[in-house]
Amino acid sequence: MIINRLAVIGVGLIGGSFALALRSAGVVGRVIGIDTDVDNLARALSLGIVDEIAVDALQGVSKADAVFISVPVCAIASVVKNISVALPEGCVVTDGGSVKADVVSQCHDLMPPGCSFVGGHPIAGTENSGATAAFSGLFRGKRCVLTPQRGTDKSALETVMKLWTAAGAEVCCMEPGHHDRIFAEISHLPHAVAYALVHAVGTADVEGENVLSYTAGGFRDFTRIASSDPVMWRDIALMNRNSLLASIDGFSASLAELRRRIENDDEEGLTEFFTTAKRFRDGIL
Ligand code: NAP
Repeated sequence: MIINRLAVIGVGLIGGSFALALRSAGVVGRVIGIDTDVDNLARALSLGIVDEIAVDALQGVSKADAVFISVPVCAIASVVKNISVALPEGCVVTDGGSVKADVVSQCHDLMPPGCSFVGGHPIAGTENSGATAAFSGLFRGKRCVLTPQRGTDKSALETVMKLWTAAGAEVCCMEPGHHDRIFAEISHLPHAVAYALVHAVGTADVEGENVLSYTAGGFRDFTRIASSDPVMWRDIALMNRNSLLASIDGFSASLAELRRRIENDDEEGLTEFFTTAKRFRDGIL
């Protein structure tokens, strides 16, 4: 047992999967679910993701040893501000948000004396949302990045590390700003590109044809993540604005270079471009 009482605020894909993983590992005593969507909360209870639900967030966290916040990134700091008055002494607060720098510094400052905040981001997910999408194996073998900053309590960090390890994740630590620059490239840019691609093709006019009716495996594989929750991705884009804009600029330059080689019938240049990209892609498999 790592902790007795865990409060999960936002019992969706990430919060629900974290609760299920810890319960199946037998490292948490009781899980209290808190969520603005009462129907989702009722489903979480009936699916056995949480042991009890709290309609009042302050009451829900008042006896918790740890609180896991997995709501859209723009809402994390306001959730922490709201619950901070009710956190018991020694409580460890952590999150699963996809953007870290601003969230971590705001939440760190909002902690009452005796409580600690540790930022986290599991590198695992699907395009589905809500408690019904949660499953205990979501984090198995996946990375979880923790983003301690100066002043982060060591024993709180250790507790959060133990929880993610018990959930099946491989934990690593990095500075919050570094995290945001890396994930702008490797996660936020691909989502932006997938949304932009589907948007462009969906609105393309080829002699009045519905182009999307011709989609096959390649288009579907490439654009799966454009089915992700639009509100979640709106928040991520805005919270990681500067890093994402820099990544989009880098991508635009790459696309412009590809366009130039096509326009110039540059056979050698195109082969080199595609070969380099294929080598990178093959290398990650
Ligand atoms: P989700 O399935 O939509 O679950 C979030 C839940 O939180 C929803 O039930 C939502 O209700 C509720 N909620 C929203 N605002 C709230 C508030 N202020 N107080 C309490 N509950 C609130 O979302 P998710 O995919 O688990 O994502 C949660 C977090 O994990 C996000 O910060 C995201 O960046 C991060 N993350 C997601 C993934 C992924 O692949 N999905 C991967 C890694 C990290 P409503 O639906 O009514 O808003």
